[in-house]
Parts: sequence; structure tokens; C-alpha cells
Amino acid sequence: MILREANKPAEGIIADLHVIRVAPRIGIITETKDRNKIEKQLMQVLPKEIWGEIGMAISFLGREICRPTNPKCEICPINQFCQYYKGNN
Ligand code: SF4
Repeated sequence: MILREANKPAEGIIADLHVIRVAPRIGIITETKDRNKIEKQLMQVLPKEIWGEIGMAISFLGREICRPTNPKCEICPINQFCQYYKGNN
């Protein structure tokens, strides 16, 4: 976060509670519990150029739309790419 504010390239991806819930739902990672493994998997599948922003973006999606229960899939901007959504529709 500090590196982001200083316009330095991110060295990792934020994996907060929202990211831990949302990223496996989307289907971009398989780990669902271990925060370090989740960050590692995210770093393997996402280009480094977006590391500084993508964690915050997924976290924001989790706070506003992809809630723990009753995610608002119908209004989600990435539902066409989401495994959870595809599996339920
Ligand atoms: S489509 Fe649904 S499950 Fe998938 S990321 Fe959006 S809100 Fe979450």
C-alpha cells in the first residue's frame, strides 16, 4: 500500500478477507484459506503491471457486490468471466 502511494511498483498483491473470498469464486485461483498461498497464486496468474491495483479492485468488488452471502451476480461487471456465476446459471 505504501509503495502504491509512492508510485513504486507493487511487490505483491493485497489478499484481504474480501480477496480471499472473491478470487476463488471468480476462478482465477484454487486456494481458499491460506493468505500467503492465495497471494502467490494471484501473483502467478496476474500480470505484475496490475498488482498494485488488482487487490484493491477485487477487495472493493467483494465489499460492494460479491458479498459472502447472496452475491449480487446480476449486476456484477465481471459475471461473464466468473466460474461461480457460470456454475449457477
Ligand atoms: S459474478 Fe457473482 S460470484 Fe462472481 S465475482 Fe461477481 S458477484 Fe461474485
